[in-house]
Amino acid sequence: MVLEQAKARAIRWLEDNRGLVIVLFCLPASFLFDIFIQFRIWLDRKLSVTTSHRQRVQKIQDQVTEWSKLPESERKPLCTARPNWLSLSTTFFDKKKCHQVPIDLHDVLSLDRHNLTVTVEPNVTVREICKYLIPKGYTLAVTLEIGDATLGGLAFGVGMTTYSHKVGLYQEAIVSYEVVTADGNVIHVTDSNEHSDLYYCLPWSHGTLGFLVGLTLKIVKVKPYVHMQYIPCHSQEEYCCKIMELSGATNKDTKVADYLEVTIYDKEEAVIMVGNFADLDESSKAKVNDVCWFYKPWFYKHVETFSKKGGEEYIPLESYLLRHNRAIFWVLESMIPFGNHPVFRAFLGWLCPPKPAFLKFTTTQAVREMTFAKQVFQDIVMPLDTLKDQVDTAVKLFDTYPLLVYPCRIYDHKGGAPQGQLRAPPQSRLVPGTNYSMFNDLGVYGTPGPVERREPYNPTYAMRAMEKFTRDVGGYSFLYADIFMSEEEFNEMFDMTLYNQVRTKYHCDGAFPRLYDKVKPEIDVIAIGETYAVKKDE
Ligand SMILES: Cc1cc2nc3c(=O)[nH]c(=O)nc-3n(C[C@H](O)[C@H](O)[C@H](O)COP(=O)(O)OP(=O)(O)OC[C@H]3O[C@@H](n4cnc5c(N)ncnc54)[C@H](O)[C@@H]3O)c2cc1C
Repeated sequence: MVLEQAKARAIRWLEDNRGLVIVLFCLPASFLFDIFIQFRIWLDRKLSVTTSHRQRVQKIQDQVTEWSKLPESERKPLCTARPNWLSLSTTFFDKKKCHQVPIDLHDVLSLDRHNLTVTVEPNVTVREICKYLIPKGYTLAVTLEIGDATLGGLAFGVGMTTYSHKVGLYQEAIVSYEVVTADGNVIHVTDSNEHSDLYYCLPWSHGTLGFLVGLTLKIVKVKPYVHMQYIPCHSQEEYCCKIMELSGATNKDTKVADYLEVTIYDKEEAVIMVGNFADLDESSKAKVNDVCWFYKPWFYKHVETFSKKGGEEYIPLESYLLRHNRAIFWVLESMIPFGNHPVFRAFLGWLCPPKPAFLKFTTTQAVREMTFAKQVFQDIVMPLDTLKDQVDTAVKLFDTYPLLVYPCRIYDHKGGAPQGQLRAPPQSRLVPGTNYSMFNDLGVYGTPGPVERREPYNPTYAMRAMEKFTRDVGGYSFLYADIFMSEEEFNEMFDMTLYNQVRTKYHCDGAFPRLYDKVKPEIDVIAIGETYAVKKDE
């Protein structure tokens, strides 16, 4: 009893002083951890320069072939040997149950300026491709604002950015995949060759259809700066209507900006960001703001300063693309509540953010359960014309701000027929005269309001209600985050028709885990949610 009370008090103290604990222990340890990881990656690369891409892929093929020669009873499902803690996913898939194949592929292979494509190995990160492409005058058509995300992870998970209202999801910018199949063959997969069925199922497949060993991606020509306009909105109706117009959701001929994003600070208050590639002239030099410097305010806090009057500025392109990296959108605020204080930024800002890999590496079972029960990390793709209901539902269930919104095209590629895990949007939702509908990412990250206030909160109820809303409006949950759906509900949200056919055709059954089994949380989310639920009488 005394021990229990002491433990409860210790946990409460740690919760109340989590910022201090993170600053004193996690940030320095994370810094050293990062140096070690970078050194390991550098060493891997040095060792691999003596081999060609073809030889590295052959090594992976050999391992799959060796696996296939094992007696059937000894053949565990295949997965990559990349440690879980290196992945940005919030779940911890138990790789020990699998036969792990190292995918030591970290190189940019070629740049085709004529066809505007870049070919890469899957472990190249967003930060690395920015460093490679931007000085040459290009960037990926779709990327992510987190430097540690890998181009392969985005291809087999999902990727969406503020350019997606122009081109759609990351998968729309993939010209071809190079895949090692369950039979140990290497195939090139495009939307028009004999593997086009696989082409449509690889996105959102999370490595359950083959190993990704190469990727050709569309790139776009850029200018060195992004001219940002910040448009404050003072009612829900205003930002919901404006974003429909600005994204081209109401009229396909609207001249849309290069980048478009909304940050919602309160149900009725939001700032819309409209960004366009720009060169700098004499008059604009004074308006340059490199938002990524460690001593600068966190990006979403900076944007909030435009919520009264609006404004404009020029951000160097690389800094724009990684603008949310330092505060991991706004996740860092729930870890270090004083992290945006000018004094903190001036002295310790350069240590931020703590490496997601370090945070995962040091996550114990108890921390994992507590984080999942007391924080929310969700990105959800839903039709943009339901934005008002999305915000109302998210606020009712989680009561946390800001909320992230990017518009994104979802295409109907096959006239309504199965086209991978995402269904074709209904005809009634297509932007008139096009084969796409305008959806959006709703990002909900942080500590739910009731948890902050120590009021009744049941994460299982909240998450399942959000998932039901998502299914009802024809949306999709990103699968990097914890899902609470039963397999039946999952199969209702995602269209598994083509996926199941492709699994049979490419002999994936018995070779790779099934999608639901791969992405469902490794913990019993329902039971833990109930255990951690803060009840009315507590
Ligand atoms: C706070 C936060 C905010 C986010 N916001 C966004 C957002 O706004 N937009 C967005 O698009 N995403 C967002 N994400 C999610 C992010 O896009 C995903 O985590 C993405 O999958 C990239 O992560 P990764 O490189 O760590 O991939 P991983 O998690 O390593 O990989 C994704 C999946 O693909 C599999 N895989 C990876 N490489 C291979 C391979 N070579 N062969 C076979 N299988 C492979 C992995 O096993 C895994 O199942 C956010 C994530 C966080 C934590």
